[in-house]
Amino acid sequence: DAILITGGTGFIGQMLVDRWLAAGHRITVLSRRSAWVAQRWLGRVQAVSSFDELSGRFDVVVNLAGEGIADRRWSAARKQALRHSRIDLTHNLVAWASRTGQRFRAVLSGSAIGYYGSFAGLDAYPLHEQDSAGQDFAARLCADWEDAAQPLAALSERLLVLRTGVVLGQQGGMLKRLRLPFSLGLGGVIGDGEQVLSWIHADDYCNAVDFLLQSDITGPVNMTAPHPASNRDFTHTLAQTLRRPALAPLPAFAAKLLFGEMSDLLLKGQRVLPLQLQEQGFEFAYPQLAPALQQLFSR
Ligand code: NDP
Repeated sequence: DAILITGGTGFIGQMLVDRWLAAGHRITVLSRRSAWVAQRWLGRVQAVSSFDELSGRFDVVVNLAGEGIADRRWSAARKQALRHSRIDLTHNLVAWASRTGQRFRAVLSGSAIGYYGSFAGLDAYPLHEQDSAGQDFAARLCADWEDAAQPLAALSERLLVLRTGVVLGQQGGMLKRLRLPFSLGLGGVIGDGEQVLSWIHADDYCNAVDFLLQSDITGPVNMTAPHPASNRDFTHTLAQTLRRPALAPLPAFAAKLLFGEMSDLLLKGQRVLPLQLQEQGFEFAYPQLAPALQQLFSR
């Protein structure tokens, strides 16, 4: 297949590109760093810096590009960048696809579990795909990102929206940031520790993407493991896996001082369940947190 992927150079994108190259697909990446792409995949992946440079037809589009949500405090300018890099880029994708008369077999467009809003631990009732969007910044960002992709439904046999939980892998994302502090015994419970983290092992994420490509599912799909964990459980499980104590709790007020509005990502959460994947028969290799972390840190 001819696959176009935006954000293909990112933590998640690289894993998908690696596996699709191995499976013999023809991959094009939209990236601001074409030299990096050439080096990373030894010329086996085509890189373009704008949709205008694309030629020909694509079977599948995966749309993941976006500035890192947890990279910096959410100033007004940062919020603009977080929105622009996703929503405007998706508008450009739509404009190119309709201008060039593309007819995709499937489009997988990005979103996140933040779509549902964020909740204190005790308010984190189970969320399924049919639940509605929240009101906070992250929720509006996800909802607008999903809306921007909607016109692709008319240009594709199927449009899927990936409401992705925190992806646990070695090469990036949250675990890469936590590994050093936790290895030093400086990990700890955040706030009251009751907030819920909906996570997914990177292998399950990639397997689920391939499963979705072969299915006939459309619409939103929660990309999370079936057993979300509280912050307290996550903290203790990670510390145990690394055989270190979790010594340094981060009180809520300190998280707010340090991270401002972005502290929502740490102090609140959402209990998101993968109803679609499970109803369609997807089997998780890592449904439970402890074996997932053990696998990731045993290599
Ligand atoms: P990364 O931050 O690792 O990669 C993001 C990609 O987006 C980069 O490859 C980059 O491409 C591209 N990008 C960043 N900023 C811009 C910009 N201003 N304009 C154009 N492209 C840009 O993200 P992940 O792989 O971790 O995640 C992929 C997507 O999935 C993201 O949108 C993220 O929000 C979402 N997601 C991720 C989760 C996770 O746990 N990792 C959880 C939920 C959602 P380049 O530099 O080559 O141009």
